[in-house]
Amino acid sequence: MKLRESASITKFNWRNFIWITAVHIIGLTLCWFYFTWQALIVFLVMHYLTGMVGITFGFHRLLSHKGFKTNSFIQNFAAFCGTLACQGGPISWVGQHRVHHAFSDTKYDPHDMNLGFWHSHIGFIFNRRADLNDVAEVSHYCPDIARVKYFMFLEKNMILIQVIVGLSLFALGGVLGGATGFDWYNAMSFIIWGVFLRLVSGYHVTWFVNSATHKWGTRPHNTNDDSRNNWWVGILAFGEGWHNNHHAQPRAARHGWEWWQFDQTWIMISTLKTLGFITDLKLPNRGSKQEISLKSDDSTSPHSSTPELTSQRKAV
Ligand SMILES: [Zn+2]
Ligand SMILES: [Zn+2]
Repeated sequence: MKLRESASITKFNWRNFIWITAVHIIGLTLCWFYFTWQALIVFLVMHYLTGMVGITFGFHRLLSHKGFKTNSFIQNFAAFCGTLACQGGPISWVGQHRVHHAFSDTKYDPHDMNLGFWHSHIGFIFNRRADLNDVAEVSHYCPDIARVKYFMFLEKNMILIQVIVGLSLFALGGVLGGATGFDWYNAMSFIIWGVFLRLVSGYHVTWFVNSATHKWGTRPHNTNDDSRNNWWVGILAFGEGWHNNHHAQPRAARHGWEWWQFDQTWIMISTLKTLGFITDLKLPNRGSKQEISLKSDDSTSPHSSTPELTSQRKAV
């Protein structure tokens, strides 16, 4: 991987700032005024669909790292759910994530922890680099994803898709809540809990993987970055908190390597494998300590075969 020249240009992104601020204000205030038990169920279903099926299963372990293969229906559904998390479409998410792995904890890491917790958790979304803020630019980091028309469609229609799903939830809430007519209160609770509050929870769960797991936790593998295994992020982020394991062997579809390292996404993957929907599964190579500790020599790394990356990485 070779960094784009635009990687050195950073601009304050007002659109992202206004969006993230508005979602937090609406979600965190109105959820107290519009609550129903049905809305809580919608929140949990949407949280798992977007956060786990979409982001950790779809965007991360499948599309970014190719830790397994699955049929096109499951892949496309997962990419749709990932787009609903509103963290960018599949192209910008995968492109940025691959840059993170290639340049972890250096000044070219999109959410470099060396710039502080605030930057790695949320600040990097407001101060966007030009190479990650433009579809054409970020496509260079993931040409395999960018060339798929369906992924480009999701990338360009992320907000529209969110609006359509939000209005559908609104209608569903109105119909389900009213015994005699449209229940406006239940409709509002569905959209507040199923869209706005769920976006807030999904954002922070993902952001903790960028921030907390490069700051707090253990480092059983001597990777050439500052990634950590963090148990509470492991629980919150569907298994993604076993981040030092992940940086040691990025392609491995299983992040919780020990029996006690709870990894919900792995439970999903292994269940689908049992049902016959998963092939070409990449598992952690638990061979010698040396083998699993040196990321730069890790033959399972998606970046290991790119000489430009190696030279670029050494230069930073
Ligand atoms: Zn990381
Ligand atoms: Zn990764």
